[in-house]
Amino acid sequence: MYLTQYLHTAMRQDPERPFTVLGQRVRTVAESADRVRRLAGALRELGATTGDRVAMIGLNSDRYVEYLLAVPWADAVLVPLNNRWSVAEMAFAIDEAEIRLLLVDDAFAEAGSQLRRRCPGLEAVVFCGDGECPEGMLDYERLIAGSEPAEDAQRGGGELLGVFYTGGTTGTPKGVMLSHDSVLMNAIGSLATGDLVSTSGRMLHVAPMFHLAGIFVWLTGTIRGATHVLLPRFTPEGVLEALEEEAITDVLLVPTMMRMMVDHPDSGARDLSRVRHILYGTSPIAESLLSRVRALFANAKFAQAYGMTELAPVATVLRPADHDHPELRRSAGRAAPHAEVRVVDEEDREVPCGTMGEIVVRGDHMMLGYWKREHDTAAALRGGWMHTGDAGYMDERGYFYVVDRLKDMIVSGGENVYSAEVENALLKHSSVAACAVIGVPDDRWGERVHAVVVPHPGHEPGTEELRAFCAERIAAYKSPRSSELVDELPIAATGKILKRELRKAHWASDGRQVH
Ligand code: ATP
Ligand code: MG
Repeated sequence: MYLTQYLHTAMRQDPERPFTVLGQRVRTVAESADRVRRLAGALRELGATTGDRVAMIGLNSDRYVEYLLAVPWADAVLVPLNNRWSVAEMAFAIDEAEIRLLLVDDAFAEAGSQLRRRCPGLEAVVFCGDGECPEGMLDYERLIAGSEPAEDAQRGGGELLGVFYTGGTTGTPKGVMLSHDSVLMNAIGSLATGDLVSTSGRMLHVAPMFHLAGIFVWLTGTIRGATHVLLPRFTPEGVLEALEEEAITDVLLVPTMMRMMVDHPDSGARDLSRVRHILYGTSPIAESLLSRVRALFANAKFAQAYGMTELAPVATVLRPADHDHPELRRSAGRAAPHAEVRVVDEEDREVPCGTMGEIVVRGDHMMLGYWKREHDTAAALRGGWMHTGDAGYMDERGYFYVVDRLKDMIVSGGENVYSAEVENALLKHSSVAACAVIGVPDDRWGERVHAVVVPHPGHEPGTEELRAFCAERIAAYKSPRSSELVDELPIAATGKILKRELRKAHWASDGRQVH
């Protein structure tokens, strides 16, 4: 299997179908394939040969889709970079992955110029925006117009498709090496779990396409013959508008986006009846939020995926039908057909159903390893299983419950407290709009359960009130012993709360190591 084979299939089956939509710009499968062929030719003329890494920094766009196809077409390697990184972080990844060619769009033209100066290995920067091409960069459209179309290398299988950086939620992002087969098997395996994606639907891409979750959903849509509608930036009103105006049938949403959408006044005013499939995942979802979103999208089937970049990315799927059972809505679903999933103790022994442990996953979809980090690779893949770093348990029917990241677990008075459980309780409080629960140093308890709360406007819930509220729902030792009110939480590009940022303030002053 190779990634670009689905473009060939679409060319044979449906060349006149719209393939990408960005605002008013619509391109058919045939036009897109022609542009991919030419871009691949241009990359080759610029010296990209087999295995060379080609990076992209940009917002979601039709050209991002062309990049995702043209790089493997030219037998080069994808390195989509996180557009929320600082220029220093981007430079680090460009040096680390030994990038010679970089594509940037309008929003990152300035970053592109700076990177050109900072990174000695960078030979050319291609400007793929709509504005004027900055000096010192090559113009994408001109390259496409002037290049000799390339033949598809049609290489894939176990060969490297890309180096995909992890979200950086728990530390420095790591480059994950994934093969064509691992990514394709993952997409096909996930689709096999049930009715997840429409046939010939209109799929909206608002979650960032540099992240593997975005690429995964794009791929499932491509396999099912979707038209891809690209939305460069997330705003709740923008997504709600696009869903209605573009007659969207399929979309990937992350919980942070969902929360902003249901809280937005436009949500009730838009016709969202054509949305048939909502995929979600990437971080835990509060039950209260899930029920509000389900009420908003009355005609949609919901499917949750749990996984990580290292798993290409899906390990388990909570299928649409599972959502009819309230007790299953807390679960992340069952193992996808390509994955073996288990829960183990600290000695890597499988634990009985219902017992908490670390979730480990095995299968041919696993990463080849971390780029240039043999030590981290060996640790993560020990015993042939990918150690997810996520705590959870499995029930008697094989449904997995992801409870917390091991690094976010709080050990208070010798008891393990899973932050997500406390957050779920807090979110039921009418004054709490968003929250994050962290462990902070405490002389008596070792670590104390501390709640960082974004209140609804005009509300100021105090610790005693929150503690009493939680204690009615979860054990007293899990209920927050202290709290603080903030205007907003630090959020990563993938929508995840950066708890290490919140912890920093508390742990640094204590002189202990921040974890
Ligand atoms: P880093 O590894 O750099 O710290 P990251 O783990 O956030 O960043 P990703 O690979 O993007 O990088 O995310 C994988 C993680 O996201 C999982 O380990 C898990 O903690 C979380 N996650 C993904 N899907 C779900 C889900 N459905 N429910 C709960 N958590 C999820
Ligand atoms: Mg991770």
